[in-house]
Amino acid sequence: MSEFDDPRDDSAHDDRARNDTARNDGARNDTAPEDATAGSTDAARPGHNQTRPVPQADPAVLPRFAGPQTFARLPRLDEVGSAAVAVLGVPFDSAVTYRPGARFGPQAIRAGSKLLRPYHPALDVHPFRAHQVADAGDAGVNPYLIGEAITEIELAARATMAHADRLITLGGDHTIALPVLRAVHERYGPVALVHFDAHLDTWDTVWNAPFTHATPFRRAAEEGLLALDRSAHVGIRGPLPAKADLAADLGLGFAVVSTLDVARHGVDHAVDRIRARVGDSPVYVSIDVDALDPAHAPGTGTPEAGGLTTREAQMILHGLAGLRLVGADIVEVAPAYDHAEITALAAANLAYDLLALFALDAPQPTSPPSVATTASLATTSSLANTASATASASPERTEA
Ligand code: MN
Ligand code: MN
Repeated sequence: MSEFDDPRDDSAHDDRARNDTARNDGARNDTAPEDATAGSTDAARPGHNQTRPVPQADPAVLPRFAGPQTFARLPRLDEVGSAAVAVLGVPFDSAVTYRPGARFGPQAIRAGSKLLRPYHPALDVHPFRAHQVADAGDAGVNPYLIGEAITEIELAARATMAHADRLITLGGDHTIALPVLRAVHERYGPVALVHFDAHLDTWDTVWNAPFTHATPFRRAAEEGLLALDRSAHVGIRGPLPAKADLAADLGLGFAVVSTLDVARHGVDHAVDRIRARVGDSPVYVSIDVDALDPAHAPGTGTPEAGGLTTREAQMILHGLAGLRLVGADIVEVAPAYDHAEITALAAANLAYDLLALFALDAPQPTSPPSVATTASLATTSSLANTASATASASPERTEA
């Protein structure tokens, strides 16, 4: 199911973990008990039972530009046995309508994730220390037969979820959201979908094809995977095939927070609408990177002018703190059209925001989570205070 080449050997990884412990005992005292054995896999789900998750590779030992190719230099899932959150790559782009290339998205997002450091100031959480996060590698997916690929993606998601409570899936084109949602539905039931995208992705067929990157949420709605009265699109804009498309989407039950809504009324208003919509339902966040403006995400297959800034998308995600997030994906990163990793960096950082949200409701939080109720949590003053408070104890002070 899963293969992801990583030249690290286990002994080297263990050395780094020990060095990390030796260097950072003081810094870690307030975030992780020291009496546990790093890498303990005595239970089926060390992501829950392990009080000391296996951390990122230590940048003071192995520089970030040289480090492991896993997401955020995290351990592989097969190294830790299981995890609270697994990052799964799905390199599939055979169902796009315009530019191909998102099959290279997972590796581009991983490359763009090397600067993701341990502490998330805006949400005051350590995404990789609150519980175990690991990279599950890539699903092996048929590039020619879309139906077969969808089955393979669903099986890969289920197999990964046998070792992880929650998934963040890196696409791949947006088709992959449907089989992932099937696996998520099996565990969590119908989910409230918060769907960042320039496009509705609820068309019925494209060129008579029912399974494409423009149709996943129509199929998901038909299959009962979504709590439609709790779901919303965010970032919708741009030319449509027909005016009736909006009515058809509304008829399915979705709400729309358009890019112009965000521009006119602000991030906090968008957050309030999304939170009111979602309520206490389990939430799945699907991020098509083309929700961002082409200036912020040029490396994508179906770019539309006039989109969200990366910062707006981040602030909206921060505003979702405290919701019951059960899964997420980031799709449509096509690095052939990217420049200086703009899109890959944005996607990696949005994934980091999602991991921060996951960490806020970790089963064994190592410090009381500072749960935001609105996006206003990340004020300038709180950001500055938390940053200065931790600077002296930062485990990365030895890193240039
Ligand atoms: Mn799109
Ligand atoms: Mn999409």
